[in-house]
Amino acid sequence: MNIEKSKSLFAKAQGYIPGGVNSPVRAFKSVGGDPLFIKTAKGAMIYDEDGNEFIEMINSWGPMLLGHANPIIEEAVRKALSDSLSFGAPTAREVEVAELITHMVPSVEKVRMVNSGTEATMSAIRLARGYTRKDKIIKFEGCYHGHGDSFLIAAGSGAATLGTPDSPGVTPGTAKDTLIAPYNDLEAVQEIAQTHKGEIAALIIEPVAGNMGCVLPKEGFLEGLRTLCDAHEIVLIFDEVMTGFRLAKGGAQELYGVIPDMTTLGKIIGGGMPVGAYGGKKEIMDFVSPAGPVYQAGTLSGNPIAMAAGLAMLTQLEENPALYTKLNEIGARTVKEVQQNLDRLSLSYTINHIGSMFSLFFTDAPVVDFRSAKAADTTKFSGYFRGMLEQGVYLAPSQFEALFLSTAFEDDIIALFSKANYDVLKAMHA
Ligand SMILES: *Cc1c(COP(=O)(O)O)cnc(C)c1O
Repeated sequence: MNIEKSKSLFAKAQGYIPGGVNSPVRAFKSVGGDPLFIKTAKGAMIYDEDGNEFIEMINSWGPMLLGHANPIIEEAVRKALSDSLSFGAPTAREVEVAELITHMVPSVEKVRMVNSGTEATMSAIRLARGYTRKDKIIKFEGCYHGHGDSFLIAAGSGAATLGTPDSPGVTPGTAKDTLIAPYNDLEAVQEIAQTHKGEIAALIIEPVAGNMGCVLPKEGFLEGLRTLCDAHEIVLIFDEVMTGFRLAKGGAQELYGVIPDMTTLGKIIGGGMPVGAYGGKKEIMDFVSPAGPVYQAGTLSGNPIAMAAGLAMLTQLEENPALYTKLNEIGARTVKEVQQNLDRLSLSYTINHIGSMFSLFFTDAPVVDFRSAKAADTTKFSGYFRGMLEQGVYLAPSQFEALFLSTAFEDDIIALFSKANYDVLKAMHA
């Protein structure tokens, strides 16, 4: 595969942009090799600067649920362009988007638009703290909630649940307010809640984790968290930046029937434009300024072009429930192919799958939390990643990312993907 243009762009980029990229995972550091510079994409296919064609398994990390260059979204953006790009003033469109979100997402009665998932989660925990007048939060090991200081916290050593900074620049003062629990371990959360009784403002979780690879909640886990948060007056926040509008039109909360107090959204909500949102119970949301005392603002929040894209995306999802049937079938068929390939090759790697999200972990043990995810063989994954790229499949460049399918993933694409998957796995184990 010729990637001369990508190589030379990456060399140049490194002179002007830290690490040559605007978000770390894009640098392919954990899998090796040079990142591809992308020029264009359509439907289920993506093309780099050198003209190589790939089956698209990242889909902008989730937003391109309907495939690239969805004509309805593009048309909505084109129409919005001629009215100017930004006003910094209220618009009719943002009210429509807010109304639609409250209809679609069970927990959301009121919603505030922001510009990224990171902004949504940072704002949500500030609000939960302001509302409860408590300081600490609980987060789960392996869950990602954007790059806000309070979330860049690693588990303490041994049995310690007090977090330690996971990045230089995060202060120990911030870290001490973040308590870390293992995913799917309700008892550990109960213990933390007891130890820090009366101190915990919020518990934030990916109801289906996508940021340690795809990890599903065990039966009863989310329900258990709901009960615990009620008992301790903790604001339960579902971070559905990834799962929102993907697993169902109302996200994981609709699918599992567990309703959080607050929800953070992003990715799909912008249809590909930079958008995030946080919403929840009226009573809590009315604590946000100017209705209430908790400050949060944004010059470009509710940007009219972003709202046009988001509205066009969400309207399609709202009006066409069959899209979810199709997405889930695509997910099921794709995963079935991978499983058959593994079986044919007598390999027993773990596949975690729900709807249109899945991960193939290079371990034969179940993956239920960050610890078990880390047991996967990342060297094997790197070989798999590079092999797939050579075969024309653009996977997320890390073992600890989920793959996101789109409605553009038609049968012929699934067949091509499956063949590449078989050939690469076979070559790896020859
Ligand atoms: C992507 C993601 C975020 C961060 O969103 P950005 O738009 O990248 O800031 C937060 N939470 C979850 C669950 C995510 O997947």
